[in-house]
Amino acid sequence: MVQAEAVIDLDAIRANTAYLAERAATRSAATMAVVKADGYGHGAVPSARAALAGGATWLGVSTVGEALELRAAGIDSPLLSWLNAPGTDFTAAVVSDVDLGVPSIPLLDDVVASAKRADRTARVHLKVDTGLGRSGATPADWPDLLTAAAKATAEGTVEVVGVWSHFACADEPGHPSIAAQIGVFHEALEVADRHGVHPQLRHMANSAGTLTLPEAYFDLVRPGVSIYGLSPNPGHVPAEALRPAMTLRGRVLIAKRVPAGHGVSYGHTYHTSAPTTLAVVPLGYGDGVPRHASSVGPLLLGGVRRRIAGRVCMDQFVVDVGDDPVSDGDEAVLFGPGDRGEPTADDWAEAVGTINYEIVTRIGARVPRTYV
Ligand code: PLP
Repeated sequence: MVQAEAVIDLDAIRANTAYLAERAATRSAATMAVVKADGYGHGAVPSARAALAGGATWLGVSTVGEALELRAAGIDSPLLSWLNAPGTDFTAAVVSDVDLGVPSIPLLDDVVASAKRADRTARVHLKVDTGLGRSGATPADWPDLLTAAAKATAEGTVEVVGVWSHFACADEPGHPSIAAQIGVFHEALEVADRHGVHPQLRHMANSAGTLTLPEAYFDLVRPGVSIYGLSPNPGHVPAEALRPAMTLRGRVLIAKRVPAGHGVSYGHTYHTSAPTTLAVVPLGYGDGVPRHASSVGPLLLGGVRRRIAGRVCMDQFVVDVGDDPVSDGDEAVLFGPGDRGEPTADDWAEAVGTINYEIVTRIGARVPRTYV
């Protein structure tokens, strides 16, 4: 083991994806594994390969940069990139068969210009905002986007492969906005039909939708956090069938005896209450360990669940292990699947007031990923 690492269980990603893809298949829907943000911190390329091995047939990312990274690694599955600013040059994406999410006419114009430069037809998925209030054409703007897309289709510059949307509250089962958004999506599809736009792929379900809303599967589901084994809302969206794929661990850099009343870490926000052993773990906010974890971040060290003592620094934090026999080089597990008694990403999210998505995604590039 190196001094600190994120161990990624690729078989967990494969099995989680297989579980989600089987659910989708009950309604004849395909599965797009979302591997944006470096596969939620797990590594985009290995995660993508594991998800494809598990039965995903599509991959989804935010930016064309992310999409081209997958293509550069030799991944040739269908691939959608959905979050790009107006003015983006999509030529390389079009040439590389990257499908593009299109929420607005200015972006469609950029895609058309890129398709002309590439002398190719660009494959697009038109996005309608059914209520999230984020990207996508509002129902009021939707007919104009369809008209522009139908014109570009007639000219041969684009092919409308998909029509899609995204949920606001799918992780809160029973939330009234869920049924409302599905209703608006059906209406948007009818409007598309009347504009002569007949997409092969209609899609809106994220992980929560895939786990709880078969009526929202349409032709394709887009799970993200669940392929990495995490529930989009622990305790509310069932994830028992999933296995967390990331374990974050480090080796004790130094374990040393100090007297009672010794201040610990910057600001001396913690003082030892008795003669004790302090263990230093080489992970800090420069590695994505939240500074908000100061005094509260849980970990497993020497077989015992403990908390960080004092402030998280850029590269390290300290643990007060009392008289326990902890030595230099011992393993400290911050989070993992939980089956060895270690905390989970959910525990970390609760301890620092965030969501499991952020805990895993923010683990920095300095932390090597080890794939098992
Ligand atoms: N689809 C889109 C458009 C997204 O932005 C995301 C992630 O935020 C997902 C799907 C996957 O969501 P989740 O990780 O909740 O499954």
